[in-house]
Amino acid sequence: MKENLLGLDAAGLGRFFEAQDEKPFRARQVLRWVHQRREADFERMTDLARALREKLPSIACVEAPRIVGDTAAADGTRKWLLKVDRANAVEAVFIPETRRGTLCVSSQAGCVLDCAFCSTGKQGFNRNLTTAEIVGQLWLANRLLKEDTYGARPVTNVVMMGMGEPLLNLDNVIPALRLMLDDDAYGLSRRRVTVSTAGVIPGIDRLRDECPVALAVSLHAPNDALRDRLVPVNRKYPLAELAAACKRYLDKAPRDFITFEYVMLEDVNDSDAHARELIAFAAKVRSKFNLIPFNPFPNSGFKRSSPERIRRFAEILQRAGLTVTTRKTRGDDIAAACGQLAGDVADRTRRSLSIKEVHA
Ligand code: SAH
Repeated sequence: MKENLLGLDAAGLGRFFEAQDEKPFRARQVLRWVHQRREADFERMTDLARALREKLPSIACVEAPRIVGDTAAADGTRKWLLKVDRANAVEAVFIPETRRGTLCVSSQAGCVLDCAFCSTGKQGFNRNLTTAEIVGQLWLANRLLKEDTYGARPVTNVVMMGMGEPLLNLDNVIPALRLMLDDDAYGLSRRRVTVSTAGVIPGIDRLRDECPVALAVSLHAPNDALRDRLVPVNRKYPLAELAAACKRYLDKAPRDFITFEYVMLEDVNDSDAHARELIAFAAKVRSKFNLIPFNPFPNSGFKRSSPERIRRFAEILQRAGLTVTTRKTRGDDIAAACGQLAGDVADRTRRSLSIKEVHA
């Protein structure tokens, strides 16, 4: 098997070249070729010794997932469907804004967590993405969008908010994050890389220790009874423990708050009383709230709260001194909005079983 260099961070590449009896500085050279110049052809890496250039194609490759779908929304949002193997495809979404470009990256084919209102959850889980498949999304986006801008790299921010639960795939997600942060690769600051989790506490602690970046937590409910229903992983990691983990995270976090995502579901979690309960929860952790109008998908069984309800809910939080933003729905005409990413996943798990296994 050839080693896919797209999936090796600086340390991994260092080990790779060491095993080839090559100088350690080759790792940094190759990082720059692969990630900054998006070069996949070793022959063109002209500052490598000729002998090495000739040897590399037989032992290594630079291979991103294959693009099998490419859709642009009316608002400029772009969604790629990426084939990662014969049975599975995942999605990545680019969201252009005036002064930044955000790439929403997937971490798994499918998801075990089965949140009640998320279409990714409905299709079950197949497997973790490899580091090359995760970083490959960023590599491809920068390569494809290159022509659209003037010099500066198009992707300025990454959010791990696509398909899957990143904190259940940290072995592969952490090296991917390291590449995003590495000045010889993508050079993004820790504040511009956000990992979003449904609340997998051991993962929050590990990320804190190994690679603290901005953290978003999908809260969606202000009490355990409701959250158990909407975000089933809450049964294992209830709110009080989640708040404590968020506080621990803040010791190392690049920002001094946690972003809490809250999907607005009509008559489910959007009452004045829910807002007041949320204020009580927020007293425990420095937080910012991001309200997400629910994005519908077929047979979801939920409705989006009205704009008036969302405005009122936000106002109650703001009056209590909390920072609240309401997420603009982007790309929903091409099913690229939050919770609409479905890819094409061959479910090979009985989910109820896999949840227990994964959290054992
Ligand atoms: N598993 C991680 C990463 C996914 S992020 C997590 O749960 O945070 C995707 C975000 O979109 C999460 O906040 C998720 O709860 C939210 N979401 C899921 N389905 C949605 C829907 N139908 N409408 C709006 N937001 C949704």
